[in-house]
Amino acid sequence: MQKKLFVISGSSGVGKGTVLKGFLQKNPNFMLSISCTTRKPRQGEVDGVNYFFLSKEDFQNCIDNDKFLEWAEFAGNRYGTKRKYIKQCLEEGKDIILEIDTQGALQVKKQMPEAVLIFICPPSIEALENRLRGRHTEDEAAIQKRLDEVKIELERAENFDYKVVNDDLDNAISELENVIIGEQAKC
Ligand code: ADP
Ligand code: 5GP
Repeated sequence: MQKKLFVISGSSGVGKGTVLKGFLQKNPNFMLSISCTTRKPRQGEVDGVNYFFLSKEDFQNCIDNDKFLEWAEFAGNRYGTKRKYIKQCLEEGKDIILEIDTQGALQVKKQMPEAVLIFICPPSIEALENRLRGRHTEDEAAIQKRLDEVKIELERAENFDYKVVNDDLDNAISELENVIIGEQAKC
């Protein structure tokens, strides 16, 4: 069966990580790409597990040497997906999931039109803000920067293949599963 690249995006705090974790627990055969970032690790985040945490210089080096399939600046930090790992997974016949921002998702689609873009929506902007604040991982300035991105992210979402609303978590996981399994069945 031909293997697929799935891209999950959504505003910060919408629950992408939580929904994906639930999905991967039920579907452990999927590979999850580990991104590079210049953001500082949050408490409990581990280098090589949550992200590859790079200095600004090392990240720039990767850009200059064309190591990234896509990269973007988001809320004051840079994030990027290494091309090599994605290529390797697809060549080895593994389905792979990228959890990246909307700018990166659209860059991937340009290069790989067969990639499936899935946008996770909040039930409301108020719920999104409550989740972002309730996570207690960002200071107020960083929260504001992330909230400032929401409008343009919702506009970019119009170019995505699917939208999944993360209201009830179990429903959102099932909906994501339906989308992904449905796409695999098309191969
Ligand atoms: P993201 O990865 O999109 O930034 P997270 O997965 O870190 O978001 O989730 C942000 C916060 O929202 C977390 O505290 C998480 O527990 C909570 N959350 C996620 N999904 C739901 C949901 N369906 N209902 C209520 N809270 C949720
Ligand atoms: P966070 O700092 O909350 O971990 O991530 C902030 C945003 O960066 C999220 O929207 C997340 O999906 C996105 N992101 C994570 N990795 C990448 C990546 O490799 N490329 C791009 N473009 N965005 C990423």
